[in-house]
Amino acid sequence: MSDTASSAPAQQGFSTRAIHAGQAFDPSTGSVVPPVYLTSTFVQDGIGNFRGGYEYARGGNPTRDSLQELLASLEGGTAAYSFASGLAAEDALLRSILTPGDHVVMGNDVYGGTHRLVNRVFVPWGITLDVIDMSDLDQVRAAVQHPATKVLWIETPSNPLMKISDIAALAEIGHGVGATVIVDNTFASPYLQQPIALGADAVVHSTTKYLGGHSDVLGGAVIVNGAELADRVAFTQFGVGAVSGPLDAWLTVRGIKTLAVRMERHSANAQAIAEALVGHPALDAVYYPGLPTHPGHDLAARQMRGFGGMLSVSLRGGAAAARRFAESTTVFQLAESLGGVESLIGYPSEMTHASVKGTSLEVPDNVIRLSVGIEDADDLVADVLEALRS
Ligand SMILES: *Cc1c(COP(=O)(O)O)cnc(C)c1O
Repeated sequence: MSDTASSAPAQQGFSTRAIHAGQAFDPSTGSVVPPVYLTSTFVQDGIGNFRGGYEYARGGNPTRDSLQELLASLEGGTAAYSFASGLAAEDALLRSILTPGDHVVMGNDVYGGTHRLVNRVFVPWGITLDVIDMSDLDQVRAAVQHPATKVLWIETPSNPLMKISDIAALAEIGHGVGATVIVDNTFASPYLQQPIALGADAVVHSTTKYLGGHSDVLGGAVIVNGAELADRVAFTQFGVGAVSGPLDAWLTVRGIKTLAVRMERHSANAQAIAEALVGHPALDAVYYPGLPTHPGHDLAARQMRGFGGMLSVSLRGGAAAARRFAESTTVFQLAESLGGVESLIGYPSEMTHASVKGTSLEVPDNVIRLSVGIEDADDLVADVLEALRS
């Protein structure tokens, strides 16, 4: 067998690639796990004569490369680029595409920080922004008629109301006007959803969430389809420099190895909770695409291989009841973020989505979001039911 082939063949299954793509053992020692290259620079054998192409770590580091190769394989992209955070990844991708005067069309319940990035950083820099309901294709067709539309930004399932948008249909609409179609795949992860296969040009991740999976490392990634966009993002990563550090990249790789089994368990646990909560007298809605009554259920069943670990509920008793619920669970811990092995509960209107208060992305103040972990389903269901009783 080859000791230097670093990638798992593209035809291998997802779980095999999640463990082996970009993860060849270290040829000098046989170390099964590739080492963490904690170095900022690389000795040259002569001026401009680099070993393995490495020169300086902002431009490239073997540990970051191993993560990037893994991500490109899992999303089915041409190349992947990893960054210090999800927002740094989004910023780098948008800078690689937009120039002043360009127009962005974005979904109306994307991650609050994504809206803040475009609205507060890119708009003052000369970009225009339309925020619309991406699950309504007629609204999208109308919005992209703007003559300078360059980006169609999709997040599905959306945050926090779990709306499902049709990636293939949106990609066709976006491409019809020459826009770059971007999907934030953080909620689904590449295990559950493959946006590039559905026609997207680029995928972004907060790898802080399901990819890292253990709430111990911040990171982001851009995965692109096509060499031309890849070159532009590679240049922005190097030229702007918000790269992930080697230890962060290594921890993210470590997390990704168990992504498939974690996503199966996250999905099963969330389904159990959603089913236990449907019709609960304290709630007026349960937002989970795995419920047959969810308006995006059929589309999600076609477009995803499972329904994921995120669900939201809205409380009959309004903001006061919602706050009491979020502060009463014991297994679910009150915290920002999502996608870790431990269950978390959050109050979007004051936490993840505080930055979009007063905009069209404002989240109702009776909504609570659950990031369902991989603990025992019975304990999670009991915890939620007990907190709702109080
Ligand atoms: C958290 C998150 C981001 C931002 O990622 P950071 O790693 O916090 O910068 C972007 N999109 C979604 C859907 C997120 O949940």
